[in-house]
Amino acid sequence: MRVERDALVDSLIRRGYIVSSIVEEAMRRVPREEFVPARIKGDAYVDTPMPIGAGQTISAPHMVAIMVEKLDLKQGHRVLEVGSGSGYHAAVVAEAIAPGGHVFTIERIEPLARFAEDNLKRTGYDDVSVFVGDGSKGLREHAPYDRIFVACGAPDIPVPLIDQLADNGLMLVPVGNRMYQDLIRVERKGDSIIRQNYGGCVFVPLIGEFGY
Ligand code: SAM
Repeated sequence: MRVERDALVDSLIRRGYIVSSIVEEAMRRVPREEFVPARIKGDAYVDTPMPIGAGQTISAPHMVAIMVEKLDLKQGHRVLEVGSGSGYHAAVVAEAIAPGGHVFTIERIEPLARFAEDNLKRTGYDDVSVFVGDGSKGLREHAPYDRIFVACGAPDIPVPLIDQLADNGLMLVPVGNRMYQDLIRVERKGDSIIRQNYGGCVFVPLIGEFGY
């Protein structure tokens, strides 16, 4: 599947989704076929979201590329992901912040958290820890985070996530209704919060105390 993976990455570069060598190398390394159910492995390098069970999806590769680019990741960062799903997006981030970085990822549906954990273990991503719980409240025990990204759509920016962002930290969160959202970047500078809108996206809903 190496040829298919390289072809997908080449196409993401041509279409302008991948612009940095950090994201390019990360996406060339992570085997997406190891993060989808066995029966659909053959389609792992089609640029589309795919079902992973429990009514949830692994995000399309171009959406992963957009978010990883906009997170401006650096070696050694501590990153929180809300919505582990398959574990694929966490693995791409782990590649981009290695060595010395760590991804904490939280998933509300226990069987999916186990699916993500198994996929990450099998592919050797020991620098990712998977938690089960309501990520709309963040993951206070490991805060603060240099970067936070939410892989599901929220009605508003969850306040606990702002609280758990480090000074000079960045967060990406899709905000809108259950069908469509805008990808919002939140930057924390001391006591001020700077927001920027990157435009439309489509994610499954964030279900929880600070979600739906
Ligand atoms: N990042 C994932 C990947 O690489 O496969 C895809 C994430 S999928 C689009 C969104 C995930 O968010 C679903 O698995 C869903 O169960 C999860 N989710 C929704 N609300 C959540 C919450 N409050 N806390 C944690 N996970 C949540």
